[in-house]
Amino acid sequence: MIVYIQNWGGKYTEPVRKSNSSESIRKKKADAPTFPFAQQLLDWYDRYRRDLPWRASHDPYRVWLSEIMLQQTRVNQAINYYYRFLEAFPTLPDLARAPEQQVLRLWQGLGYYSRARNLHAAAGQVMEKHAGIFPSDIGQIRQLRGIGVYTSAAIGSICFRMPLPAVDGNALRVIARFYGLTVPVNTPAGFRAVTSRMEEIIDPARPGDFNQAVMELGAGPCAPRQPRCHECPLQSACVAFRGELAHQIPVRQPKKPPVLQEICYLVLRWKDTLYMRRRGTDAIWAGMFDFPQWTAEDGKHTPVPDAADIHQLTGIPPRGLRISAPLTHLLTHRRLHISFVYATLPRAWKAPPADVQAIRLDEMHTLPVPVPIAHCLRKVME
Ligand code: SF4
Repeated sequence: MIVYIQNWGGKYTEPVRKSNSSESIRKKKADAPTFPFAQQLLDWYDRYRRDLPWRASHDPYRVWLSEIMLQQTRVNQAINYYYRFLEAFPTLPDLARAPEQQVLRLWQGLGYYSRARNLHAAAGQVMEKHAGIFPSDIGQIRQLRGIGVYTSAAIGSICFRMPLPAVDGNALRVIARFYGLTVPVNTPAGFRAVTSRMEEIIDPARPGDFNQAVMELGAGPCAPRQPRCHECPLQSACVAFRGELAHQIPVRQPKKPPVLQEICYLVLRWKDTLYMRRRGTDAIWAGMFDFPQWTAEDGKHTPVPDAADIHQLTGIPPRGLRISAPLTHLLTHRRLHISFVYATLPRAWKAPPADVQAIRLDEMHTLPVPVPIAHCLRKVME
């Protein structure tokens, strides 16, 4: 277990009794005392940071790749993808030259596939506009597809020593707790409050390490549910610790519940092929493959089709019709309930929709498919 005992003589006040109301948090909150935040944090980081593969290099391509992968993904999972990606695309021009289908296939399982499409498109932009050299100007970095305020600050600070705070979920939590901020961190006001605090304390000599140290603290001692303040280098000056408020901060505005969406897929097999659909660019899972989707005529409900419905759709009476129990798949704003209807066609489907094609089972492993479709394909292969 990592234990860091602070010894810089920071001022310590007795914790006050815990209470749940925001008002009581506000009353207890005191401005953090003058405190060598960056210095204490960087000392701790130098001593305890994890040895992660992307930290071995300041190459913007590698840092960019890791930052995109780490969004919405745990570090342990991202490491495998990071190595696989670098093996397939060792340099930015290699990524730019690759077909999008290959990029999506390698991304499969990480979710949020727009990240992969944007990564690929941005590599093309770098080739086209910057002769294959990743730009070092913050304005130019922000013009690349899929690179927003956070990612540009991370790349700018780590690779080009720009003193820009990279505010991710970990930074929101650490800074909100340290300063006792009660403004909800998932609002623009909360984001601004954290950003301005970080702008004040970022170390201009080591801005990249500073940003990574804040994230490291959030991924370690300053965990969301069970913060381990006794391991934290900021403990003596932390408002949340001093007021026993770490379990109440950060404050978050409640999110809207996800919208339920019913989907019914037709898994139609003909000989050693399955009929697969390539999704359009304006849909979720854009550019990936799924199956033809069954939608009832009123467009609202998706009752499961029977053999007569499939006969009418394909012009062929199906055999061996079987229906799976629905599975649930969560997206950011949607909860999908997905049913699969399996059937065999005794002959080829003559005129499937334009986006549907018969694909050989032994080619399935080359297709980029979303997680629920991969799950279904595994069952088909079994
Ligand atoms: S003292 Fe505790 S709450 Fe404060 S920053 Fe450190 S780990 Fe987080």
